[in-house]
Amino acid sequence: LPTVILVGRPNVGKSALFNRLIRRREALVYNTPGDHVTRDIREGIAKLGDLRFRVLDSAGLETAATSGSILSRTAEMTGNVLARSQFAIFLIDVREGLQPLDHEVGQWLRKHASGMRTIVAMNKSESLDDQGLLTSEAGEAHALGFGDPIAISAETGFGMAELYETLCPLFEDYMLRLPNDNHVPDDTSSKTVESDESKVPLQLAIVGRPNVGKSTLLNALLQEERVLVGPEAGLTRDSIRAQFQFEERTIYLVDTAGWLHRAGQEKGPASLSVLQSRKNLMRAHVVALVLDGEEIAKAKTSMKHAEVVIARQAIEEGRGLVVIVNKMDLLRGRQNSSLHEKVKKAVPQEIQTVVPQVTGIPVVFVSALEGKGRIAVMREVVDTYRKWCLRLPTARLNRWLRKVMSRHSWKDQATQPKIKYFTQVKARPPTFIAFLSGKAQLSDTDMRFLMKSLKEDFDLGGIPIRIMQRSVP
Ligand code: GDP
Repeated sequence: LPTVILVGRPNVGKSALFNRLIRRREALVYNTPGDHVTRDIREGIAKLGDLRFRVLDSAGLETAATSGSILSRTAEMTGNVLARSQFAIFLIDVREGLQPLDHEVGQWLRKHASGMRTIVAMNKSESLDDQGLLTSEAGEAHALGFGDPIAISAETGFGMAELYETLCPLFEDYMLRLPNDNHVPDDTSSKTVESDESKVPLQLAIVGRPNVGKSTLLNALLQEERVLVGPEAGLTRDSIRAQFQFEERTIYLVDTAGWLHRAGQEKGPASLSVLQSRKNLMRAHVVALVLDGEEIAKAKTSMKHAEVVIARQAIEEGRGLVVIVNKMDLLRGRQNSSLHEKVKKAVPQEIQTVVPQVTGIPVVFVSALEGKGRIAVMREVVDTYRKWCLRLPTARLNRWLRKVMSRHSWKDQATQPKIKYFTQVKARPPTFIAFLSGKAQLSDTDMRFLMKSLKEDFDLGGIPIRIMQRSVP
């Protein structure tokens, strides 16, 4: 997909335009002059008529920011993200007219994004029925050096047709130069492209309590600073949909920041934030649950209540689960070796008691801060996803069934139901049906045996799988 970045000084309406383009109202839009509110770079799939493109909402491009402040860090991040965009929409505020800061943004763009096609959009044009003013503003905006401006209103939608007309030829030109791979991810993708799982981008949710290091891990995974990490309260806000590549596979991150934000804000019972995250868990294929290794070393139990709830929900919802124990750098050294051992032993044990129905859930020990464990985390995530998508042919399953049934010691041969036929009805997660002759049902022991054999023989450990039974005459 072509990628468009929205740039402009604070309060010109970048977030408002972003929201209009992605048609979701979950981002915050303030218009307190001087109050810099958009601090994350958000990403979404924009819809404009029949156009689909990736849109990035940059934070302001303050060049004069003091070093170390949120603003200068934001400007750095924007520089990184600029490299990934082919187009920019440079917003100005037509009601306030061009400000020195707008010119700075223009210079900044010319310096850092000379190869990018930039469209100047005069926002807040809805109330300007004074054509004279609009024309003089357009003249000024033209002087920015990015061609003829278009008049829009992110708030009312005025000018969207013109924006469409402007983008169409640019995109066409861009698409012509591209190989044919423009998969648009959506929430139904898992249902429609099941047969070729590798084409469906993996949706990963990174979840966990505040301060376990989710943002730090996220940054390590993205390998560019896309999410601000730091002591400022409420820093991660709104929802971010970022993507990255791992070994030629596209990974989408599911509303991670939204979860971080809410989890950090809520003072009420942990279950509340957990409940709100359930929707996000459902959108994820694989859930990465981050724990704080240092905390575990000091505490009696390895998992807090909220973490237990998340792990159970993920498995109940049929998601893949990978447990990440972070901050292992703090448990290094001779004096910590017993704590280190304790953590390495305790977490896998506890996760097994928390979700006994799934054996072998992967547990990875990392230091997000040092960027250690990125590959290990992603290997487990991808491997979990691969298993989760697996489809076993019916013929193979039934050959396997005959073999495995002869191994099983049935309690009572006479009353034992006979499995006539065994088949996988769906993947994501793998779900099987055992067709039984007559009215008899498989006992829990039989079910567990089937489950265990299936997992061992087809390497399906660590993911939730389901077996149902049906009677056939
Ligand atoms: P989040 O709330 O889960 O997103 O946590 P953050 O990523 O903001 O991290 C919280 C704090 O823990 C920050 O001060 C990080 O620098 C620190 N932190 C994160 N990962 C590690 C790690 O691997 N080792 C150490 N020592 N500190 C870490």
